[in-house]
Amino acid sequence: MSNASHLTLDLNAPCMSTGHLVVAKGADCEALSLPVFCLNKGEGPRLLITGGNHGNELEGPIVSRRLVEWLPEAQTCGRVIIVPEINPLAVQAWTRNTPVDGKNLNREFPGRADGSVTERIADAVSRLLVPMADTVFDLHSFGPQWEFPPSVVTHPIANAALMAKTVKMAEAFKFPMTLIWEHDDTPGMFDTFVHNQGKVFICAELGGGAVGSEVLSIYEAGVRNALIALGLIEEEAECPTFRQRKSSQTFETLLSDRLKSPAPGIFEPRCSVLDEVKPGDLIGVLHPMESLSAGSIDIRAPAGSVVCAVKSARYMEVDEAVAMLARPLER
Ligand SMILES: [Zn+2]
Repeated sequence: MSNASHLTLDLNAPCMSTGHLVVAKGADCEALSLPVFCLNKGEGPRLLITGGNHGNELEGPIVSRRLVEWLPEAQTCGRVIIVPEINPLAVQAWTRNTPVDGKNLNREFPGRADGSVTERIADAVSRLLVPMADTVFDLHSFGPQWEFPPSVVTHPIANAALMAKTVKMAEAFKFPMTLIWEHDDTPGMFDTFVHNQGKVFICAELGGGAVGSEVLSIYEAGVRNALIALGLIEEEAECPTFRQRKSSQTFETLLSDRLKSPAPGIFEPRCSVLDEVKPGDLIGVLHPMESLSAGSIDIRAPAGSVVCAVKSARYMEVDEAVAMLARPLER
């Protein structure tokens, strides 16, 4: 057996196969074996679904496992490859970054075959899986610190045709929110690597906070809707119900829409995601804790907008993001 990263299954084999993506061992850790599911039903779209890129976002691995159960009955054409956790070290540690080298897998693409373990994972995924797909769904969530609605997020892409295709694919999930997110930290992202090859990359942000059964059903319904839109399964798409509402809207958020903590202290949220706010409406309160003579500080909406993310109550350093606002996308 080769010492280099490799697959133990043939992704071109007909019907269903399971095996592993083996990530080569290095100086910092032994080889990793990432379970891979592949279902080949001939001609059609070629889709790669990954979860567990960040180890404290467990919605993706759970929805991926559910998908593996019902897809063999439902898929009618094309090929779907599913890797429920691409960073098992981070998942086991319930950390965003890989504990062995401290790196964020989603900033290490396309990785390095002779790098540290996070770079070796990125390299194996980039070289052995991405070339086998035309579309990639990477299933994230906003993690335990944020309240966030089930969403698909995309960063602005310079290639206008690819941007239009990506937004159309994102909206096909029919999640409560599709978000065009201006971001200042995109080098090394899985998104950027796949976009640079002209392929559609979907970053599903499957909510935030606690992982409960109701939201998991919404996430699974959204992924099912996307598979229907791709033509991989023949069913009726349905808009999932989120907080008594069956609606899905596309928003845009800019760097300037991030509200930050004005001082160190405990942040208390005073709004919920998808709330519409007017200029001056209260978003949250920051409570300095060193002295009770220092008053609490109101954090207010600077403009009319919709709340797309709000931090759970916790201790904040100064300038930490506490909320993100957005506006309906104008087209
Ligand atoms: Zn993530």
